[in-house]
Amino acid sequence: MKDVDRLNAGYVERTGIDDYWFNRDLAIYFGDTMGEVTNFADEIGVDFGERKLSNPTLYEPHDVMRVLSGGNRASYTDAIVNALQEFADNGQLQIVTNVNVTGLIQEEDKSITGVTYDLNGESKSYSSKAVVLATGGYGYNEDLVARAGLKNYTTSSPTFQTGDGYIWAEEAGAALKNMDFITTYAAGIKTSETGLTQTYAIRVKELGDIIFVNSDGVRFIDEFGPGDGSTYDAITYQWKVQKDNYVYIAVSQSQIDAMKERGQSLLSNDSDWAKFDKLVADGEAVFKGANAQEAAEKAGIDAEAFAAAVEKYNGYVDAGLDEDFGRTNITTVKSSSGEMVDLGRDTFTKLEGDIYLFRTTPSIMICAGGIDVNTKGQALDENREPIPGLYAAGEIIGMANAFGRTTIGGVGNTGTYVWGKMAGDGVAEYVAELK
Ligand SMILES: Cc1cc2nc3c(=O)[nH]c(=O)nc-3n(C[C@H](O)[C@H](O)[C@H](O)COP(=O)(O)OP(=O)(O)OC[C@H]3O[C@@H](n4cnc5c(N)ncnc54)[C@H](O)[C@@H]3O)c2cc1C
Repeated sequence: MKDVDRLNAGYVERTGIDDYWFNRDLAIYFGDTMGEVTNFADEIGVDFGERKLSNPTLYEPHDVMRVLSGGNRASYTDAIVNALQEFADNGQLQIVTNVNVTGLIQEEDKSITGVTYDLNGESKSYSSKAVVLATGGYGYNEDLVARAGLKNYTTSSPTFQTGDGYIWAEEAGAALKNMDFITTYAAGIKTSETGLTQTYAIRVKELGDIIFVNSDGVRFIDEFGPGDGSTYDAITYQWKVQKDNYVYIAVSQSQIDAMKERGQSLLSNDSDWAKFDKLVADGEAVFKGANAQEAAEKAGIDAEAFAAAVEKYNGYVDAGLDEDFGRTNITTVKSSSGEMVDLGRDTFTKLEGDIYLFRTTPSIMICAGGIDVNTKGQALDENREPIPGLYAAGEIIGMANAFGRTTIGGVGNTGTYVWGKMAGDGVAEYVAELK
């Protein structure tokens, strides 16, 4: 809880918002249970691969290393399904796929007694004593994301995360909490071709020489912080609060050329720079100008202010001191493969010559709002009374409901097991009482 409280205090300090709610009992349950569920997964033969203890710098670090990453990271689902197959073969469980569930069945007394689903275009129903909603997040549901105030965003969520379970739960009377908050990641690029799907991701950290401005052409933060992840939330938060959720990233041609020379690429999976060239040619989200003024005019942001921001920044480069945000020199950057790359210089460099402006959006990966549940996994109504027979597990219970307004590495994947056990135990108790 020490980390949870410390990271939440950072959010309160940053935003001045301190009247939000989260269920501390869930965080405590998580801490108490994660070891047990991981041991259980080992016992039934789930092969996560070799585990390594880490403290990912993408997020604000924990007090001590707490995250165990499995070597089979790309296929956790396969690892689990493989282990469960034996139980399916023995008739102890049934795995059904490719069935589109369409809603919940609710009785007059509010209890949930099954689901409706589509099979080959035919509507059917399935009766059960209880239902556990585990339909994941809502990255692809713009209406639900809009509750967190985001106008523009991209997402790396799976396309099936359309938020169905949230809608059904709300219709059944469950309370959704913390929907006004969502964890965002930096620098998505949205075009009319890619839509919500996060196709282009800028490797901001590999650049070393950029500034961020908003549509007023104004710089607003030390773009890199101390480089240890401790300001991660504070930096990504900017994408939520700037107008239209746009942060414009400015970079000069000389930096692009230097990256190419170092064998790096600016966008993920773009070693031949073809994606970059396409974005520049399309001129929809990346704008190139012969100087700051021209780049800003093409981007449709305040050109005079942007030119002034660049001039001021260049003055800081000369002076070796960023008087506005205290940015320090960056001489090495971490490449996406984790190696440190020497930028071959001992100071940051000016923005001059041809300048590119990238119009970037927040990017969503894990959804933070969710169904209010107790530590039996029961979905609760606005009075925190359980809706009989309705349970929830996984991302749908909302990371912020369990841990508050912060990003804690590892709780997404581990949450699928921890909250699954919680709901499973809750259903077992409920069903036993029904008899
Ligand atoms: C790119 C990416 C990287 C991530 N990295 C990490 C990480 O490093 N560490 C970490 O802890 N977490 C990470 N996460 C988060 C974590 O992966 C998720 O929070 C977790 O997988 C959610 O699991 P879930 O079972 O709740 O939902 P999901 O895995 O989203 O599964 C939901 C299931 O419900 C099904 N479904 C949805 N609607 C219906 C319907 N109407 N009818 C029938 N079925 C339906 C879907 O088909 C799917 O099978 C990452 C997420 C993403 C997107």
